Parts: sequence; C-alpha cells; structure tokens
Amino acid sequence: MPARNPRVLRSAWALAAAVVAIGAGAGTGLALGSPKPPAPVFYRPVRCVRRGRAVAYSDGPHRKVVALSFDDGPAPITPSFVRMLAAQHVPATFFMIGDQVGAQYRSTLRRELRSGDALGDHTYTHPDLELLSGGEVYGQLHKTIEAIRGLTGYTPCVFRPPYGDYDQSVIDTAKSLGLATILWDVDPSDYTLPGTSVIEQRVLDQVQPGSIILSHDGGGPRGETLAAYPYIIQALKRRGYRFETVPQLLGFHTVYLPCVKDCKDEGVKKPLPPGSIIEAANPAPVRQSRRG
Ligand SMILES: [Zn+2]
Repeated sequence: MPARNPRVLRSAWALAAAVVAIGAGAGTGLALGSPKPPAPVFYRPVRCVRRGRAVAYSDGPHRKVVALSFDDGPAPITPSFVRMLAAQHVPATFFMIGDQVGAQYRSTLRRELRSGDALGDHTYTHPDLELLSGGEVYGQLHKTIEAIRGLTGYTPCVFRPPYGDYDQSVIDTAKSLGLATILWDVDPSDYTLPGTSVIEQRVLDQVQPGSIILSHDGGGPRGETLAAYPYIIQALKRRGYRFETVPQLLGFHTVYLPCVKDCKDEGVKKPLPPGSIIEAANPAPVRQSRRG
C-alpha cells in the first residue's frame, strides 16, 4: 500500500503558498512578507493544473510537438524507461495504476519528476470504467491520486481511462478531481508484442503535429517497447519535432515550490518549462493539513 506523505510540514507549506511568478523566466520573486531567504536553487513539482472544457483529449494543438505516454506502470522495467528518456533528453507522461504505486518505486517516481516527466492517473485497479457506478469511478481515481501524492508529493492533473473506455460521467468525475481525461491518436499496439521494428514503424507512420503517443511500460514484457523508443525519438527529432509532457502539450500549468532544504533528490533547477508556476512559501503559521 502507498505510504502516507511524510512531509506534512511541506504540505502545509504548500497550502500557505502564494503564486509569485509565471513562466520559464520567472522565479526570482521573494517570499511574500518574508525578509529572507535568498533565492533557492531548486524547485520541486507539486502538482499540475488542468484547464479547459470537460472533454476527452486525443491530441494537442497542431504544433510540431508530440507527447510520449506510457501506461500500466510502475513496473520493474520502468526505471529503464526513465533512464532511456533521460539519455534522449525528452520527457514523457506515465499513466500509473494506483495499486502498483508502492514504496519500491519511490525513487523511480521522484526521478521521473526530477527529469521533467509528468505522472498521471490510470485508475487504481485498471477496470473498465463504463461498467462501474459513479461512486466506484470516483474511488478508482481518488485512490490513485492519493497513492501518487503519498509517494511523491505530486498531485496529477491528467487521467487516462483503461482501454480508452469512458463516457461523459467519467469525464465529469475526473474533472471534479482536477483531472483532464486523456486518450491518444497514435497507438502502435505494443502490448501485442509485434516486435521492436513494427512498433517503430507504426508510431512513425501515425505521428502528426500535436500527437499523443500511447505505449506501455507495464502490464507485460515491455522490452520491445523500451528498445523501440530511442529510434522513434531520434527519427522524430530529425523531422523537427519537440517533445512535451501531456500537461505541457495541452497548455496546463505545472506548479513548483522552492526547495530549500533536503531536496537533493527532489528539486529541479531552472530554467523550468514554459508555463510553470512557482509558488513562494509563507513561513508564517503552519497549519497541519493535507494538501488539497
Ligand atoms: Zn492500461
């Protein structure tokens, strides 16, 4: 089971926070009402913020940008995906099954956040949501948010329905939890294990500007997928594509907190991605409370 977030102080700190800056070049603002401290060097992603209508997104705006997404983890091979992506210097979005978000993946998920990846909700036990009651759908999504938040301190804003099965009530329930419903427009069906070169070719044949690419880092053997992506990424770079997370692709904002102490394993350095929001902590009274 997921561990509870040990950083109660930081959670309360987040509640007391105030937005001081928006944008990649921002972040030099001082804490409101505070005579100190000097500008911190590291920033910790704590959540992202969905916006827009209650719809299911299959792709993003028609820009020369794509978003890679990997479903059904975390799994034993997930750290290899994270290393591969870091070596290629591109981010991805990991839609995770809450029941699998255990303490053994704490460092992997934190490395994902440090690397600029986004974490997403893929339900707690991977059911077909159209077969569940509204309350059960809410529970599936909420428990996964809690698992991710408990392990990483990060609250996701994107959700992918298992099997791509959803209806308007699923979208509305997700929205009530701060989650945008995310589908895809590129699917190499890597879960059928067609072979690395077939996965490569299917992705490269289907990609368009703004594509959201679906693949899997869990749910079965994923060595073919892992082996395919360095070639896919290089080929797309040669075509002039850039890579963003799903929240970035859709224009959502990622919120960072300055990380001033014990944050070597969590903090990221500037420049932060475009559209980032940096919150400054208010060091005054700290109420013990869960992050909302
Ligand atoms: Zn899935």
